Amino acid sequence: MKLMDNIKGGLDKISIDTLKSRAAAIKDAVPKPSPKKKEEKKDNKEKTEAIPEGSIKCPSCSNIIEKKELGALKICPKCAKLFRMNAKDRIKAIADEGSFVEMDINMEAANPLNFPDYSAKIKGLQEKTGLKDAVKTGTCTINGYRCVIGVMDSGFMMGSMGSVVGEKLTRVFEYGTEHKLPVIIFTCSGGARMQEGIVSLMQMAKVSAAAAKHSEAGQLYVTVLTDPTTGGVTASFAMLGDIILAEPKTLIGFAGRRVIEQTIKQKLPDEFQTSEFLLEHGFVDAIVERERLPQILSTILKLHGCKKEVED
Ligand SMILES: [Zn+2]
Repeated sequence: MKLMDNIKGGLDKISIDTLKSRAAAIKDAVPKPSPKKKEEKKDNKEKTEAIPEGSIKCPSCSNIIEKKELGALKICPKCAKLFRMNAKDRIKAIADEGSFVEMDINMEAANPLNFPDYSAKIKGLQEKTGLKDAVKTGTCTINGYRCVIGVMDSGFMMGSMGSVVGEKLTRVFEYGTEHKLPVIIFTCSGGARMQEGIVSLMQMAKVSAAAAKHSEAGQLYVTVLTDPTTGGVTASFAMLGDIILAEPKTLIGFAGRRVIEQTIKQKLPDEFQTSEFLLEHGFVDAIVERERLPQILSTILKLHGCKKEVED
């Protein structure tokens, strides 16, 4: 009681005028946006609006490019920046025509934690992307060499790994083990899917265990890291490939730069978390340009004893 009285007494001593002058001082201390900044903002807005329909502004060279100019491989014709490819386009660019046979087409996510709005979000994305979840899997041949393939898609919840991604990729390894086939996985992910909580995290262990069994059976596993490969995917199967390839200038990491800098209280190098930096430090075996991927992958398959099914 005495404490409350003391506090009350203290408050009474602060006059209304003191409060007013303090409020005025705080108001002055907050920086006001300068008229110049406002104009810049307006300019930027106008520039955004000036991009015609069917065109895109390259984030690397700032040129306005017609989307069709990017071509099947989604490469900026002015500066060679790689745009993200969806799973369908990627498979088309990698697999021999007509050779891809999709597996587990209709597998969809449940909502194990009853996470609010999760089911509706999944449904909306399924309609928008034509995918059931963030990975497409199946068998195909690449320049005549058969393999099991998994391609993650950043267009579906940033390629996040939940139960469906984990289960489908596990089945890719199991199929590869059973049929003595090499596995190739194109990774692209923001990490584990928070809406599935622990169910999503356990996929890291599950896929990794299936990859280990595939390896114990003497089969080859190649990963191709594409932009961005982060979080739980990097922390599990993305880094388990017998051979790890990456596309140029790909973001590859576990935690974000800011989180690491705050934790270790050190400034990180500019190129940190790029495929080039990881190549230099031994985490990546080779950086391969997008147009050369089918040739490089089929050469790797050939060198590892795969038999060519289709003769040229
Ligand atoms: Zn460009």
